Amino acid sequence: MLILTEKPSVAQSFGAALSIPYNKSLGYYAGDDIEITNCIGHLYELAKPEEYDEQYKSWAFELLPIIPEEYLYKKNEDTIKQISKVTKLLQKHKNDKIIIATDADREGEVIARIVFQQAGLKDISNCYRFWVSEALTPEVINKGLKTVTPWSNYNELAKKGFARQHADWLVGMNLTPYETLLAGHKITLPVGRVQTAILAAIAQRNNEVKNFVPEPYYQCVAKLSDSQGNKIEALLINPENKKLFFPQLNYYINSAHTYSETDKTITFQTEVKRKSLNPPTLLSLTELQKLAAKQYDYSSSKTLELAQSLYEKHKCLSYPRTPSSVLGDDDVELFKEKYELLKGKYEISKYCNVELISVDNKHIFNSKKLDSHHALIPLDFIPEDATQAEKNIYSLVIQRFFMSCMDKCIFDEKTMLIKNGEYTYKTTVKSIVEPGWKNAESKLESEGTNKDDDDKIQFFDENHCYLKNTEIVKKMTTPKKEFTETSLLAFMENPTMENTDEKLVGLGTPATRGNILSKLEEYSYVVKNQKKYYATEKAFFLLKLLFKNPLTAKIASISQTTQWEKQLESSPEEFEEYIEKFICDCVKTHPEVENYEKEGIGKCPLCGSKVIEGKKSYFCEKLTKEPKCSFIIYKNSFSTLISKKDVQLMCEGKVTGAKSLTSKTGKTYQAKLKYNIETMKIEQVFVNKFKR
Ligand SMILES: [Zn+2]
Repeated sequence: MLILTEKPSVAQSFGAALSIPYNKSLGYYAGDDIEITNCIGHLYELAKPEEYDEQYKSWAFELLPIIPEEYLYKKNEDTIKQISKVTKLLQKHKNDKIIIATDADREGEVIARIVFQQAGLKDISNCYRFWVSEALTPEVINKGLKTVTPWSNYNELAKKGFARQHADWLVGMNLTPYETLLAGHKITLPVGRVQTAILAAIAQRNNEVKNFVPEPYYQCVAKLSDSQGNKIEALLINPENKKLFFPQLNYYINSAHTYSETDKTITFQTEVKRKSLNPPTLLSLTELQKLAAKQYDYSSSKTLELAQSLYEKHKCLSYPRTPSSVLGDDDVELFKEKYELLKGKYEISKYCNVELISVDNKHIFNSKKLDSHHALIPLDFIPEDATQAEKNIYSLVIQRFFMSCMDKCIFDEKTMLIKNGEYTYKTTVKSIVEPGWKNAESKLESEGTNKDDDDKIQFFDENHCYLKNTEIVKKMTTPKKEFTETSLLAFMENPTMENTDEKLVGLGTPATRGNILSKLEEYSYVVKNQKKYYATEKAFFLLKLLFKNPLTAKIASISQTTQWEKQLESSPEEFEEYIEKFICDCVKTHPEVENYEKEGIGKCPLCGSKVIEGKKSYFCEKLTKEPKCSFIIYKNSFSTLISKKDVQLMCEGKVTGAKSLTSKTGKTYQAKLKYNIETMKIEQVFVNKFKR
């Protein structure tokens, strides 16, 4: 029998579980009748166009589209030795039983299939798939080996994996040269399926925020106080439809005085609804990434790496690349076992309700909602020598693990209609009946590890209260927020579009989402500042080119990309065919070439040449040319993002608008910025707080 794993460390775990020693001279684990070997991730990669045909070495419109009849793979340079070892072993065991134990996901499936094909093997009837979500302890491995199923059961998954791989190749290998050529070949403009649509969403959000014009609106607020001094505010509503009422300002001015003079005549109408709030669910990978970005400012790729290490190296976390936030109905014993193991060490466990660890609790155990792997759970204690970053990630999983089996928080939601003559105000007050899991949450808050004020619960005694006054409050409409790592992950998981409530398919997989964001940064399409994502000049240029052609515009469309993702899931063959046709149609038209010239942002204050935007800075075009000029302004200066507009102003010798800056001690303050041509540095100009 032969066992094939994805990584050396997994082969080692199998060796240990089956007591098969590593044979140094052979280079694999060799037992009497079982041999174990491993891939090193992807042993093969898809060949580049120039490896199909030399002519593709240079890019030209006439050579597009490039659609391979059959996809060629090439050996990954660093793994050539391992490839020959694995190939020999596969051939040796081809009439024997072969267990495929690569990672239990779409990527792992493709890795094994390619190695198998490249070894010249076609018949998989003697192959079986090892598929578990738990960390590979000896017990899990032995159990998993008893429950292997024919590899052919995974044919459909393999098809999806290949279709995705091919489609991404087609988009990248055709549209990247196509757009680059359209830009006069002055700059390389990488285009990617999913990736470019996400970029477009970031750019669109930047524009929305930039072009947003705040508009004033007025609210009439009634301020109430109860006998214990608890204060609440109620808003004027339309008595007919009970909705918030935003009449003209004049109306308020006429009526506001009337209210305060007649404050004794108020009447209450109270409606109480008993409600409950479930504890948070167990974590999926994406949820973990969102939390880690929020609390520790970790990028998604970093969180995945840490989770992978907790799984693979420390064996204290379940399989990390999971989209699920529940366990299966059969996992009750597993949960119980881990709960019993870990509860003693973690204070927070005292708020748990053991009775909730039951198959009837659909909040935790729900096979219907289970998607390929179960939610993240701790499997063991984290070793002392783990890094602080690993411990941080582990602690997020631990908190959710225990919180998931706590009682619901029960509260009364009081809706109060306050009538004052012909005017009606409305407010809602929540008061806790049974805190349940909120007990634990408030404890975490006090430790400063968890902050969430989405659902503040307060108490108000409407039976002993009075109306203090009414006030007209001027408010300004606010723009949407710029995307952060957390909100982008949420967006990819649940994309939304204006003008539709339709539930869209998620973009990418939990395992690929973080990578998409790092790619955008690597290609200088986005910069990050204070957790926010901003599209660069290069990104806007690419998008401008894409939008010129209604066909290529599709690659930058969220709705189109989600439709493709849906098609990939339901019919991978059709999806691949469709992408092929789409690529052919795209590159048929040759609109005019628009040379990519870095637009000068302004005149260099030192030498008068053009100032251009780079990846991390704005600089004089003479920075690297003789005679050299040293004008450079870094995008991240004084803990703020320097915009193009700021650079323009500074180039003209002016000060920028006021910016909120953060001092070394963490205090925020307001200052303007100015470029000093003598020191060749940016200086702060403090805003006078005492304006007269
Ligand atoms: Zn200069």
